[in-house]
Amino acid sequence: MVSTQFSIIDRAVEGAHAAQAQYGAAPAAVRARLLRGLADALEANQAALVSVADEETSLGAGRLNGELARTAFQLRGFADRVDSGIAHRQIDDAAVPGAPPAGRPHLTRVLAPLGPVAMFSASNFPFAFSVLGGDTASALAAGCTVIVKPHSGHPELSRRVHALAANVLREQGLPEGVIGFVDQASRDAAVHLVSHADVSAVAFTGSYQGGVALWRAANARRLPIPFYGELGSINPLVVTPAALAQGVDAPAAALAASITLGCGQFCTSPGLIVVYDDVDGERFVAALAQALAAQQPHAMLTQAMRGGFEKASAHIAEQAGVRVRLAVSAENEAATTPAPRLYETDAATFIANAALREEMFGPAALIVKVRDEAQALDVLAAVEGTLTATLWGAEADTPANRALAAAAQRIAGRVLFGGVPTGVAVCDAQQHGGPWPASTQPQTTSVGYAAIERFLRPVALQDAPQWALDANAGGITR
Ligand code: NAP
Repeated sequence: MVSTQFSIIDRAVEGAHAAQAQYGAAPAAVRARLLRGLADALEANQAALVSVADEETSLGAGRLNGELARTAFQLRGFADRVDSGIAHRQIDDAAVPGAPPAGRPHLTRVLAPLGPVAMFSASNFPFAFSVLGGDTASALAAGCTVIVKPHSGHPELSRRVHALAANVLREQGLPEGVIGFVDQASRDAAVHLVSHADVSAVAFTGSYQGGVALWRAANARRLPIPFYGELGSINPLVVTPAALAQGVDAPAAALAASITLGCGQFCTSPGLIVVYDDVDGERFVAALAQALAAQQPHAMLTQAMRGGFEKASAHIAEQAGVRVRLAVSAENEAATTPAPRLYETDAATFIANAALREEMFGPAALIVKVRDEAQALDVLAAVEGTLTATLWGAEADTPANRALAAAAQRIAGRVLFGGVPTGVAVCDAQQHGGPWPASTQPQTTSVGYAAIERFLRPVALQDAPQWALDANAGGITR
């Protein structure tokens, strides 16, 4: 069985490797056409795909239709940027006669695709972070072939989406190895994929444990390769007193909806709420507990994730100095659909106990009460890397708000001045990453068009003849 799985991986990687030379050298127009063809195929099969996705994930047709639309939008967005030259940028420094350091040869910095990318689908976004999601779209835009390792939480959907992609490749006369697929690979087989000599990079979204196991494998190779992993995030949200000046009910309702969105299975779910220990702060927490109690999340993605959530929330609840603000009944602990929960502690306890900084992947959050602004800064400083940090009531230009913004920027990839962190726009300015463990490569993003940079390797061509510069231009005229 193991050897059969390994040979399936070997065949898929061989296909991707064989296709790489042709696809990597293809004109920008070929890549853009492929990306648009994939978007069209998703939309043409939307109803059937959403129905399978809903059966496998319980995420609901509304959310899944929106996610498919986002996935198609993202594929077309990359196509537009490939057309405008994002993957074939050249920086040119003309020769300067004379002695160095001022004197120099003619140098042109060009971009080369890294090569075949092993792409691990995420469980919680069956379209947008899966077979044809952002990692695949950005790798294809960069001219890299892809080997998809589907997530075991939505196997049939993954097969169907891959079959559509294979069809688009055939119609466009491209090798099937441009988008490879390793169905039902075991964890050993997944490690074999990451360790394969012909894989050049890995993209991963998932758990800290799984991500670190694969990251170690990528680094233990004779020739280590880039591992772009998004491994976990608690997404602090700071509620300053100014944020509650207009009342507590509306902000509490907005936050409760964000905490329970998708049953809390969003990597950007706000899991740590910093609230001032005063009268308004207490009214806000009471209103939040009430608003959360009224929410009715749907079932979780998998039974394993349901169990994982129960374990993670129980672990927070049992820590010394933690008070339960919204409890669940004993029956709910065993029910398929989890009830939301809310815990509370104080700043000193939070800072002293690393267990309180562990992600609860599900509809739950931890309130940390702070005495003053200095303590709010200490709490943020105790948080390790996080995808987002949200500041409520920090609009005024004051030294306190500047300090909060600086603290937030030190730990987060995206800092929000208002609103809720769930919902990640696909655009050029987006940054979805952050210091470890939000990302294993904090200088990169896995959402937005800058995600393409992960799969492009700069090469400086020195005194290159024009044909060599043209060969790296992807057919784009400047
Ligand atoms: P996961 O368990 O890390 O799985 C992600 C992928 O990695 C799957 O393909 C999985 O294979 C594979 N994998 C996991 N452990 C491995 C190992 N030791 N060796 C080789 N391959 C391994 O993540 P998940 O299933 O999506 O969710 C589990 C937990 O991850 C959640 O409860 C949550 O805590 C966290 N999570 C975080 C984020 C985030 O964005 N931060 C997103 C999703 C999930 P299989 O398919 O065979 O399991």
